[in-house]
Amino acid sequence: MLTSFGADAIPTAYREPEPALAELFDCLTCDTPLRPCSAGPGTLMCTTAGCPQVWDVQHLWQIQDERVRRGLDQPAPGPGLPRPLLAGHGDPDHAPALRPHPYLVQVSHGRAWWTLLHRGRHRRCQHQWRCQVCGLPCPPRAQVLLDGHNVYSDAPLHTRCLRLSLSTCPHLTDTTTLRVAAVTTDDILADGHPWADTLVTEWTQDWSVPDSVYTTAPDVHEVVACPQRPSRS
Ligand SMILES: [Zn+2]
Ligand SMILES: [Zn+2]
Repeated sequence: MLTSFGADAIPTAYREPEPALAELFDCLTCDTPLRPCSAGPGTLMCTTAGCPQVWDVQHLWQIQDERVRRGLDQPAPGPGLPRPLLAGHGDPDHAPALRPHPYLVQVSHGRAWWTLLHRGRHRRCQHQWRCQVCGLPCPPRAQVLLDGHNVYSDAPLHTRCLRLSLSTCPHLTDTTTLRVAAVTTDDILADGHPWADTLVTEWTQDWSVPDSVYTTAPDVHEVVACPQRPSRS
């Protein structure tokens, strides 16, 4: 059985829940609860005196990778389609909204952190021209979603995966400003430089496109069939 998500399915007044990030993670060095950190979304720090990591900024995606490595949690779903349906942290337990998991989105404790991107996966998508939704290689000409000249989430997508995002992601509701373009790596500026000239970096690049790239408004009337049964890969 398939469930269809069209433009009507997008909630118009979505508010990002504020999950209790710090309550779920202990310092992997001293085992005491980590505290929220002001260094940015998805960052935590240990405040326990005497811990070798005290006051170090710790990124959730790196903490989670280490938790998985130690067998404390399952890895996030890997590349492939269909995307498993997951609830998000902060969603109500009685009726959590199940949404397709984008490959770039962090997962812990069986739930997605919808607004936190896994930087390791992100860099892989950027340097290997992989789709940010399914994690599989993109064709030479792939889709990007644009906010002005800036590439949304700084990675390409398949046409089908773009439609899936527009149909199911509550952060993409303001379609009056979003644009889409079919681009090759020749069109991408990575941190302001031609994509082909950039080295494999330790950080996530900011992607943009020049004026010359032809853009169109996203077709939010495309209806995408989304598998109802989750499958982990
Ligand atoms: Zn510690
Ligand atoms: Zn894809």
